[in-house]
Amino acid sequence: MNKTLKRLSLYIHIPFCVRKCLYCDFLSFNADNDLIDEYFKALGKEIVLNAGEYADYEVDSIFFGGGTPSFPDAKYICDTLSLIFESFHVSDKAEISLEVNPASAIFGKLNSYRRAGFNRISIGAQTLNDEELMKLGRVHNASMFYDTYENAKRAGFDNINIDLMSAIPGQSLESYLDTVKKVLSLRPEHISAYSLIVEEGTPFYDMELDVPSEDVDRKMYHETKSILAANGYHRYEISNYALSEDKECHHNKVYWTRGNYLGLGLGASSMVENVRWKNVSDIKKYIEIFAAKEDKDRNNVDKADVFVDNFKKYREDVEKLPIKSQMEEFMFLGLRLVRGVSLEEFKNNFSCDIHEVYAETIDKYKNMGLLKEYTIDGHTNLCLTDEGIDVSNTIMADFLFD
Ligand code: SF4
Repeated sequence: MNKTLKRLSLYIHIPFCVRKCLYCDFLSFNADNDLIDEYFKALGKEIVLNAGEYADYEVDSIFFGGGTPSFPDAKYICDTLSLIFESFHVSDKAEISLEVNPASAIFGKLNSYRRAGFNRISIGAQTLNDEELMKLGRVHNASMFYDTYENAKRAGFDNINIDLMSAIPGQSLESYLDTVKKVLSLRPEHISAYSLIVEEGTPFYDMELDVPSEDVDRKMYHETKSILAANGYHRYEISNYALSEDKECHHNKVYWTRGNYLGLGLGASSMVENVRWKNVSDIKKYIEIFAAKEDKDRNNVDKADVFVDNFKKYREDVEKLPIKSQMEEFMFLGLRLVRGVSLEEFKNNFSCDIHEVYAETIDKYKNMGLLKEYTIDGHTNLCLTDEGIDVSNTIMADFLFD
């Protein structure tokens, strides 16, 4: 492996879903076959155009998210992955994940994904209680989830994440724990457990919801942590658990540690060398920009010069992050990790001591028992304590400068 190559992760956005869940504020919608076809053609062109720009990077992780990547025909997804392999330097050891919905992840598709090179599957189960799934407006039921899990194993996936959700309307502590125990009986390699957040602009926002109280939600969180720990899962981030260190999600750790990531596809966000931007989120515009020149050979970067002007238009809100913003992100993303932030890395990145910048905030929360410093292998880290995790949003907000 060429040691001079820089590290990069790729996120590929697949914005299509069967229908919108009631709590969803992701960039996703239903689409007919023609629109899906046009989208993947445009995405292919975006991939090829970017490949030239990132020729001196090696890709360590690829994540197909959405939307529902398992909704379109598997051929689109597998062809897109092959194009990435042809266009970028992808490490032999790259983690290559795909989010799937139990309603659309049939065995044939899962088998194709595995054969194409995906080595990690993330199943959006949310809950195994059919009534709760209906309240969320999900298109699957518990039995579809079990089939998907079984089929993913049969297709050869040995790195499976299951997404769980707490604080669902009508959910009791008992029904939540019942889901956790059922999921545990499958022994997936990874579990993500998030609380429902009711976002403005979603149908849930305008509905009277019978959501569990904050106290019950906290109990759900604490019980999850202890049941999972008792069953051999270690928590490595506020909401993420893995059976072993090598099954922690590398891709998400790149986000939390501010590594380079390039987002491809509609509305995808990127941050490379501290420059941040977001792709255009209007699908018609996106397709127009990339698919206008149907006759161009998608593998020939030289022929892509006609896109150069358009290329600039599809990246919005491009911003070189000022040092203060970089420090803020370093803190509030890094503190999500159980290991916390490294004081040495802070110094290496910003050429100053973390205590010079954040003395007041660090001392305040250390005195309250919400933050702690610890030394491991001669390196000192700062992390949230268990009590600190309960009020993590307040603490992280205190690391912002304004
Ligand atoms: S499946 Fe996911 S992306 Fe699609 S509508 Fe539901 S929550 Fe949103």
